[in-house]
Amino acid sequence: MRKLLFQSLFRRPFTEQVPSLDNAAVTELAAAVGNAARRRLGRSLSIREVDAGSCNGCELEIHALNNAYYDVERFGLRYVASPRHADVLMVTGPVTRNMRDALERTYHATPNPIWVVAIGDCARDGGCFAGSHAVVGAVSEVIPIDRHIPGCPPTPTAMLQGLLALLERADIGAVTS
Ligand code: SF4
Repeated sequence: MRKLLFQSLFRRPFTEQVPSLDNAAVTELAAAVGNAARRRLGRSLSIREVDAGSCNGCELEIHALNNAYYDVERFGLRYVASPRHADVLMVTGPVTRNMRDALERTYHATPNPIWVVAIGDCARDGGCFAGSHAVVGAVSEVIPIDRHIPGCPPTPTAMLQGLLALLERADIGAVTS
């Protein structure tokens, strides 16, 4: 025990080093998403995250957007607790049989314009869970989607790029301002 304590004084921590982040690029991207939301909606963008059956890997990256590292709330992107307050549903999949009804009800509880973003490879086609008896399949098999962001899991930066591409599309939803 004494040896372990002594070693711990000199050994590097087991935790990984913080990855280098191009802060300027992420800041620019998140600001662009916030500005695009204000142009379309006249206000901040509210996001409701729906786990329709994922392994939670995608959730970790979605939540990372809101941690102190990315801190996207400073640009007007916020997570909300109810679909009734949401503009965007970020849905991770695959959609399981148990979650199908909850996903449909969440979709119908969201006010217009409802923008649905399917997050991760599983949300596209079931990914590594495709064919399981517990899985319905892709998010698009249950509710209509506006954009898919690929990856297993996609990075927070890829999610910001996807949200920006969604908001810059001319053919989505109505502008309410
Ligand atoms: S895409 Fe990858 S990280 Fe996301 S739910 Fe599927 S297996 Fe998990």
